[in-house]
Amino acid sequence: MSFISLIEPPADRVDPAYWFAFQKNNLLVQVVDGKTIVPYVMSMEEIGFKPVRTQYLGLLDGRHCYSAELPLNAPWPESASFADLRRLHGIMDADFLKAAVNGVQVVNWDQTFQFCGRCGTPTENKTDERAKICPACGLVNFPRLSPAIMAAVIKDNQILLANGRGFPDHFFSVLAGFAEPGETLEECLAREVKEEVGLEVKNIRYFGSQPWPFPHSLMIAFSAEYLSGEICVDGEEIRKADWFAADRLPFRPDSRISISGQLIDWFENEYQ
Ligand SMILES: [Zn+2]
Repeated sequence: MSFISLIEPPADRVDPAYWFAFQKNNLLVQVVDGKTIVPYVMSMEEIGFKPVRTQYLGLLDGRHCYSAELPLNAPWPESASFADLRRLHGIMDADFLKAAVNGVQVVNWDQTFQFCGRCGTPTENKTDERAKICPACGLVNFPRLSPAIMAAVIKDNQILLANGRGFPDHFFSVLAGFAEPGETLEECLAREVKEEVGLEVKNIRYFGSQPWPFPHSLMIAFSAEYLSGEICVDGEEIRKADWFAADRLPFRPDSRISISGQLIDWFENEYQ
């Protein structure tokens, strides 16, 4: 089973469809035969919801998929529940989750770009790609994506992990930060590591990536080798940072949920 993203909805749908309906980041889910899925119905109205807007997403296992933005005051449903997308990793089938991650970003884009940001004219959906165009001035808006790097910095068989603002006290992860205009991902990584812990790095290598739709990040993970400097943190954005050996890793992100956890797992396996 796989999810195929498409733009153009079917003209004459006669079968039900999967509905990825969101109230903020919370997805409307149902448990059917022990599996967590989304409603498979003709329309959201069929199950008592009046969506603000709906969007066509594509095909999942050959079945049409739609996303829907539900009003904030939509009632708590009896036969279903709302679940935070981040909590559905490992619970919802990976292809459903892929469609949901696509859906929440499409909902967000549709909500945000109803009007042209340059001239204020109501926008129209383009028919050949996922974009909105202004009929007055031609400005095109694609779904927003914000690239952010993650860095596993390695020195003498140890990994650099940091306790950032907003983390629990004993929770450590790799360094991360958003790319700035005009910057390569490698430059972004070098700058973030320098800014956050005062170190220089070399041999930056690509590890992998993960869409993180809260609200529109794309995480791009790398490993890098320590080059020079002493750890120096600002005590605010980064509260603590230290080197950890593979057999002494602290409480860290869950690798089933985030690529930061997978990056640390990779270090653990490679350097033990
Ligand atoms: Zn315009």
